[in-house]
Amino acid sequence: MHLGDHAVVLGAGMAGLVHAVPLAERFERVTLVERDSLPDRAEPRTGVPQGQHIHLLVPGGLTRLEELLPAVADDLSGRGAHLIGAPEWRFHMGGGRLDLRGTDFRITGATRPLIEHVVRARVLAPGGVEVLDGWAARELLTTSDRSRVTGVRLRSEADPTEERALAADLVVDTTGRGSRSPRWLADLGYLPPAEERLKVDVHYTTRLFRRSPRDLDGSRNVLVDVPPAGRRGGVALAVEEGRWLVTLIGMLGERPPADLTGFTEYASGLWNGDIHDVVSGGTPVGDAVRAAFPSFSRHRYDRLRRLPERYLVAGDAVCSFDPRFGQGMTVAIIEALEMRRVLDEHGLDRIGPRVLSSARWAVQDAWDLAAGGDLAHPEVEGPRPLSWRLTTAYLERLLPVAHRDPLVGAALIRVIGMLDRPQRLMRPQLLRRVLAGSRRNGSRTPASGSAVRSPA
Ligand SMILES: Cc1cc2nc3c(=O)[nH]c(=O)nc-3n(C[C@H](O)[C@H](O)[C@H](O)COP(=O)(O)OP(=O)(O)OC[C@H]3O[C@@H](n4cnc5c(N)ncnc54)[C@H](O)[C@@H]3O)c2cc1C
Repeated sequence: MHLGDHAVVLGAGMAGLVHAVPLAERFERVTLVERDSLPDRAEPRTGVPQGQHIHLLVPGGLTRLEELLPAVADDLSGRGAHLIGAPEWRFHMGGGRLDLRGTDFRITGATRPLIEHVVRARVLAPGGVEVLDGWAARELLTTSDRSRVTGVRLRSEADPTEERALAADLVVDTTGRGSRSPRWLADLGYLPPAEERLKVDVHYTTRLFRRSPRDLDGSRNVLVDVPPAGRRGGVALAVEEGRWLVTLIGMLGERPPADLTGFTEYASGLWNGDIHDVVSGGTPVGDAVRAAFPSFSRHRYDRLRRLPERYLVAGDAVCSFDPRFGQGMTVAIIEALEMRRVLDEHGLDRIGPRVLSSARWAVQDAWDLAAGGDLAHPEVEGPRPLSWRLTTAYLERLLPVAHRDPLVGAALIRVIGMLDRPQRLMRPQLLRRVLAGSRRNGSRTPASGSAVRSPA
């Protein structure tokens, strides 16, 4: 299907890359405009500061990425990424370890720079996508009545006096959480999207360590969740070049230290010892990196009555999630798949509102999962409707059962991993199993830092 001559995607992060794929099949050419100068190798870059912290593709993300880029998992493992099957994950949630025996989901064990590097190579390989790096999007160009976007004005990063206009049949904004779309819309006389914010004051400190295949009896992924009464958690992931990537998490102002001694001590304070086992006695590689996230926010473009034609916003520019559950890249991939479907059904007519509406479920599920978990902490401010309270109570029953029943563990992981929608946890067969299991157990465990809310 041919939809036009030129599509422009702003921002060559993960959302930009995955959106370029379906566009390249439907437009004569696609330009990926990127403010950074993109490296030839898999290395961190300024425009993606989060890229030095844990970044994994959950099962629903990896599976869907393969729908866009067949066999990309092989490319990743060919470059040294691990593909880690669920039975060897050590997921410590709700006071115990999830039983994931017999389940066959996979996640990636790789640094974000490697994932992005491999995906970028695949996106560029067929030749329909061109990268224009070192240029920043400054403003949208429109028809004189401002009803339709016709391109974008760019400014050179090397020489800020140099500007150029790029004409386009479609512009997709994937410039991340700092996106200027709200301002661009306001400047054009449109209402900007309302913003929902969740203040969590999360701090991340990340270090790399040498990894021996014997560490943790060969397990390559550990998650220690932040319990509702606590503020500390962490993730350890086997990544390329024989290393562990370890991110320690502090909520509500708690800051994991960067120096090795402080980092190790902090790890020893987690309620499960696996991450401390990785860190203590491990050989560090390089220095620690830190990041702070005062809040996460969702821009409600999906609720706007008016958006200009030929214009779409996606990825973190729409919603940035508490990264503890690693959903951001997966949501961006789902958005790209929804865009592909909408383009084939409706062409470019009302492309923005149509895609935002058809991808709303993914943003909502991920937001509910992450925000629901954050709200389990009494200090986090936000609405706790009846649906949230019921789901949290249900999870308090489900988690202890998931510690010893692989069917329940797998059901939970399918939801956290975005293979299933949250309501699958409420299906009668599972409900019966959870209730019977928790009666046998006779006790309830405080829900972990996660909560899966039933759809409103
Ligand atoms: C600490 C942390 C850990 C995370 N861990 C995970 C994880 O484990 N799994 C997961 O799926 N997600 C994770 N995420 C989320 C993930 O990083 C994002 O959701 C995902 O990268 C999609 O983002 P994006 O492409 O929309 O934005 P970004 O990745 O931020 O990319 C935006 C791009 O736009 C460019 N840009 C910005 N402004 C302009 C401009 N004006 N003109 C041109 N280019 C511009 C930037 O340079 C950048 O390249 C994590 C996030 C954080 C903060």
